[in-house]
Amino acid sequence: MAGPTILHADLDAFYASVEQLLDPRLRGRPIAVGGSARGGVVLAASYEAKAFGVAGGMPGWRAARLCPALRFVPGRFREYQPLADRVMDILGDVTPAVERISIDEAFLDVSGSTHLFGPPAQIAELLRRRVREEVGLPISVGAARTKHLAKIASQVAKPDGLVVVDPEREQEFLDPLPVGLMWGIGPVARARLAERGITTIGELARTPSGAVEQVLGHAVGARMSALAHNEDPRRVAGAGRARSVGAQSALGRQPVTRELVREVLTQLADRVAGRLRAKDRAGRTVTVRVRFPGMRSVTRSSTLPGPVATTLTLTEVAEQLVWQAIRDQPQPEPEVTLLAVSVSGLVPQSALQLELPLEADDPRRPGSAPGAARWAVDRSVDAVRARFGTRAVGYLPAAMPRVRTVPDEFRELAEHDL
Ligand SMILES: [Mg+2]
Repeated sequence: MAGPTILHADLDAFYASVEQLLDPRLRGRPIAVGGSARGGVVLAASYEAKAFGVAGGMPGWRAARLCPALRFVPGRFREYQPLADRVMDILGDVTPAVERISIDEAFLDVSGSTHLFGPPAQIAELLRRRVREEVGLPISVGAARTKHLAKIASQVAKPDGLVVVDPEREQEFLDPLPVGLMWGIGPVARARLAERGITTIGELARTPSGAVEQVLGHAVGARMSALAHNEDPRRVAGAGRARSVGAQSALGRQPVTRELVREVLTQLADRVAGRLRAKDRAGRTVTVRVRFPGMRSVTRSSTLPGPVATTLTLTEVAEQLVWQAIRDQPQPEPEVTLLAVSVSGLVPQSALQLELPLEADDPRRPGSAPGAARWAVDRSVDAVRARFGTRAVGYLPAAMPRVRTVPDEFRELAEHDL
């Protein structure tokens, strides 16, 4: 059975959380964005206000009555989009298959990312931590085998949580939940179902589809009936292209030196780029992951102007990203325990097409001798290996002293369905 590789990530009380982020005096307090005690409509409420029953869509006067300490703020709408975009960028660091469905929520298909970032729950925690640390906002994530389950799981996880739906126990998870959590059941549909005594998803599942269609209309009824039975074949948009090739190396504890980083990345890039070339592919997005002692890890990724598949270019890009990740640490990190490299955003790349431009005078530019030379070297290496095996020839960082402790265990990771 497939794993819970679809994530639904949803910022918590987004507008209200942004207001609390921008104005520390509002933190920990019940606030409403929009409306006033005299009227208007509340657009969003902080969790402190939700605890009093205040909710988005509620008239201001009613919200004020429910929560006398409620503070109304007008909302700085120009701030919302750029912050949400930064969150989406972080999500995009773990998979190219990110389907944004509103300003503050998205589905992700991470089936092609587990080799690089670990199981879905670990990816979800990584994302939640990064959004919290780098943007300052709380985000909840649901992880499941289908979109419907993932979206429900993120709602159940709120505020600021993670829920993973065990693929073996999906119906068990769904049955006791209120129908209102289903994507597509609004207040009107919920009221109509309640009139017929249907309040939980399990009750909806036990009602014949024909009867549900009478209540909700043919199309919606049939769809909700199927969802209540846990039937949801929808894929995350872009998931078909969610392919990447990656490799990682666990290092034990190693002092961070230029030599170590270059040697390990050369070997990783060799594996990744070699596999790309073997499939006549190249990719534009390079992602690295650096793990420090204590299992804390950071990722950095960069989307290049053109696809890469040469070992040397990939090594250089990965090296820049790794140093950037190390430099960005709040405290100096003298040791690393794991390095990983992956390439995504893959496109067909025949051997005759050379690598695309980086900078006009960059030696990696196609047509420039070094760019062409890189391809020629790689192709020769590939040809030798095809005849004599992978170990027959390799890349060693030239003119670099050998590091004493070479990572003895090179974990070859699953290549994705190219
Ligand atoms: Mg939200």
